[in-house]
Amino acid sequence: MTVSTPPLVLTVAGSDSGGGAGIQADLKTMLALGVHGMSVIAAVTAQNSLGVQGYWELPPEAVRAQLNSVLGDIGVHAVKTGMLASPTLVETVAEVLAEVDAPVVVDPVGVSKHGDSLLAPEAVDTVKTRLLPVATVATPNLWEVTQLTGVKVEDERGLRRAADAVLALGPRWALIKGGHLSGEPVDLLTDGDREFRFTAQRYDNRHTHGTGCTLASAIASYLALGEDMPEAVRKAKDYVTGALAHGFPLGSGIGPVDHAW
Ligand code: PLP
Repeated sequence: MTVSTPPLVLTVAGSDSGGGAGIQADLKTMLALGVHGMSVIAAVTAQNSLGVQGYWELPPEAVRAQLNSVLGDIGVHAVKTGMLASPTLVETVAEVLAEVDAPVVVDPVGVSKHGDSLLAPEAVDTVKTRLLPVATVATPNLWEVTQLTGVKVEDERGLRRAADAVLALGPRWALIKGGHLSGEPVDLLTDGDREFRFTAQRYDNRHTHGTGCTLASAIASYLALGEDMPEAVRKAKDYVTGALAHGFPLGSGIGPVDHAW
């Protein structure tokens, strides 16, 4: 029997003790999509269905050592970054990823759905100047667009202006997640020339914890599987929509999307 190695995908992000978002959502997504998932942990959150009770950053040398271990021996076909917490960690990760020859999906995580901050305010500038320039695609939601660019989107017509403002910070592609606008949810993907709009059905389900992490790691997984960017995003959106439709209650707050439906 010949045993072949699946595509290799790395997440660099924060751990969610409740298992719904962060590293845990990333690895579940990667397993579901048939790639080998690897994890560099940048921060550890104490978290449940009610929110983030606290978080602790790992020392930059611990993050750099994890990156070196994975990249020095195993290699990667795609990388996803999530919660990086501090300017030093953003800088460390950006510096290493600048030398990596694989697509980098940057989810510029700012706050959780509960409103808990997952990025120090002084790190926003480092995300703009160091991390976004090494991104193949950045996947901000509308709140993160405003945090990064100052652009406020009121309706679907504002999505392209938001995307152009994000592209000006250096990623090759911008995927603006318009899910918080009223009406049918629309996301916009552009590289400045080509533009793609993705619509999805809105589910009346409050158990949505981990959607952003799941989308970004699904995009990284499909890129590693050989899809081009528009197709990777389309398939990742379908995956998240399915996971969201099956989000389940957990604890007494907001439950996670489901990867095992
Ligand atoms: N916890 C961690 C470690 C995360 O990385 C994220 C989002 O990226 C969250 C929590 C927030 O997840 P949500 O906004 O889906 O609740």
